[in-house]
Amino acid sequence: MVIGAAQLDDLVKVLRKDGYATIAPTTRDGSIVLEEISSAAQLPLGLVDDQQPGAYRLSKAKKPAYFDFTHGAQSWKQFLFPAKEKLWSAHKTAEGFQVEASIDAPKYAFIGVRACELAAIRIQDKVFVEGEHVSNGYAQRRKQALIVAVNCRRAGGTCFCTSMDTGPKVKDGYDLALSELTRKGVHEFLLEAGSASGQTILKRLTGRPAAAADFKAAQKASDKAAQSMGREMPKGAAKTLANHLQHPRWQDIAKRCLDCANCTLVCPTCFCSTTSDSTSLDGQNAERWRTWDSCFTLDFSYIHGGAIRRDGAERYRQWMTHKLTHWHDQFGVSGCVGCGRCITWCPVGIDITAEVRAIAKDK
Ligand code: SF4
Ligand code: SF4
Repeated sequence: MVIGAAQLDDLVKVLRKDGYATIAPTTRDGSIVLEEISSAAQLPLGLVDDQQPGAYRLSKAKKPAYFDFTHGAQSWKQFLFPAKEKLWSAHKTAEGFQVEASIDAPKYAFIGVRACELAAIRIQDKVFVEGEHVSNGYAQRRKQALIVAVNCRRAGGTCFCTSMDTGPKVKDGYDLALSELTRKGVHEFLLEAGSASGQTILKRLTGRPAAAADFKAAQKASDKAAQSMGREMPKGAAKTLANHLQHPRWQDIAKRCLDCANCTLVCPTCFCSTTSDSTSLDGQNAERWRTWDSCFTLDFSYIHGGAIRRDGAERYRQWMTHKLTHWHDQFGVSGCVGCGRCITWCPVGIDITAEVRAIAKDK
């Protein structure tokens, strides 16, 4: 089906009527952020981003569109795997401690999920739902979530999804997919259903049947995004890194890296966490909380009397080799989807693709 731009608001209203918290891109502090919206008017119409290693700017587009910016620092991870989550609480009773599991699971509709982000969600599904240890909170939030994807027709300055085979066009795993079409001054969206839930919602919207020319225009726009991607991950990265664990480049990176952990926090696939317990002073109540952690902190590798990854080179190597090499052994896929966030939001502009390329020179 093809809908007019005005019908985007009908989509938001239908989702809200069905009880979804509609989360979508909007702007705050000069950046694209993901927040709950109640109307399509809150989408960042007419903005594009300029992303470079260590740099991010939003500006007005020459031709206003709804989704021609790419993602900001935030990802959907913050909703499915919150940065801070209470796992359980315990209360002392006459019979002993009573433990209650704590699950906060709003019914989310994610509007504007890019192809690389869908790939990242699929990776976190492997970790939190399909693995040996299921995260009940993640599983419930994920089961309830409805995904409205958006096909990119413009590549961001640090994107490299084409070389990771994760974008810029969504393949599966969505309920609805939007392709923005601008032809002869007319602004429309090709809306495709990818699930039974998506089909039901699509039937409640008004539009015209999609013609072959609409599919062709959407494909052309995605192809343009793929062709304009300025970065790529070198082929064979997994093997390159595995063969060069003592390469001098790790020390070179460590001289630039601040160990700030930004790259792991913005990464939509990083899933490391730590837990902490607290007890009330009267000893009657206790809680366990899970918070995001990062392999860039000293504490992360603390084992019986000390950290085993003491210098920055070891910590960066751990991050990059886990993501690009060992993730394949652990989960059967790469841990990187090519979103480029770790490049944009690294304060010193360290580029994961450039580092692999530098190491790959020494075959
Ligand atoms: S490693 Fe970097 S480019 Fe790859 S998914 Fe994480 S943030 Fe995105
Ligand atoms: S964001 Fe950059 S400086 Fe910070 S830990 Fe990651 S690689 Fe190092």
